[in-house]
Amino acid sequence: MRFIDLHTHSQASDGTDSPAQLVAGAAAAGLAAVALTDHDTLSGLDEAEAAAQRHGIEFLRGCELSTRTEYGEMHILGLWLPRQADALEQRLADIRHKRDNRNAHILEKLATLGISISMDELQHEAQGESVGRPHIAALLVKKGAVPDMETAFREYLGSGGRAYLPKEVLEPEEAVRLMAGLGATVSLAHPCLKPLPPDWLEAFVLRLKACGLSAIEAYHSEHSDAAIRSCVDLARRLDLGLSGGSDHHGRNKPRIRLGHGYGGLRVPLDILEDLKARRRQQGLPC
Ligand code: AMP
Ligand code: ZN
Ligand code: FE
Ligand code: FE
Repeated sequence: MRFIDLHTHSQASDGTDSPAQLVAGAAAAGLAAVALTDHDTLSGLDEAEAAAQRHGIEFLRGCELSTRTEYGEMHILGLWLPRQADALEQRLADIRHKRDNRNAHILEKLATLGISISMDELQHEAQGESVGRPHIAALLVKKGAVPDMETAFREYLGSGGRAYLPKEVLEPEEAVRLMAGLGATVSLAHPCLKPLPPDWLEAFVLRLKACGLSAIEAYHSEHSDAAIRSCVDLARRLDLGLSGGSDHHGRNKPRIRLGHGYGGLRVPLDILEDLKARRRQQGLPC
């Protein structure tokens, strides 16, 4: 049986592999297909797509957007994004600008706590254009302010941390419409990372389905077997497709392996075939 990975991050956002390295890693792992789904940027997609051609692995252009709900952030994945995605690019540029402002304020807070990091250092650390807390966390580790990334989030960057600042994010409806309007397959990412009232999740998914949501990411590194089952059940009841991926971030999440997650995850190629069948029914290219 062949396997796929439809949720990964590169240096373009908060992963540590270059887009080409990530695709090479997916091919070396024997995967049949991989999607690159960096946060708030499409800048790694061309490099990854070219690498996929060289390595003979199927590639999906993707992206992950953070959105606001009454239960905290929920993430939305776009898959099969078109090469020309101007409406999305414009919105992403605005979101990244807000990220940069937030990063500057987080660095100011750290400075008042006696930890000096410049925006130049941060940009150098990040390499890519979508810069955020994981890059600041990596610098805190490098500077010896904390022993590891977990501590960086707990003491400084996570909610409740001393340099925490919330991120301005999209409304979920807008995120779904933006990507569905471009002909992407839109999937609700890892819905079960935090406890949610089941009725709320179902109502949320229905709201988003009305805006063009077409799948649920049932298979994810941090989903238990019970979570997977409940996602599969919800998707079946609401006639939605399924997606799945590791959420690979390279060395920033060192225990997550491409196509394997923390060990048990395997996303069969059938999942991709089912998503493609849904796209064909809608007259969308795949
Ligand atoms: P940002 O988009 O800048 O708010 O950063 C969010 C990212 O930080 C998430 O995608 C996670 O990868 C990472 N993150 C959040 N909390 C933690 C944590 N406690 N430990 C490690 N990484 C985290
Ligand atoms: Zn990430
Ligand atoms: Fe996510
Ligand atoms: Fe992710």
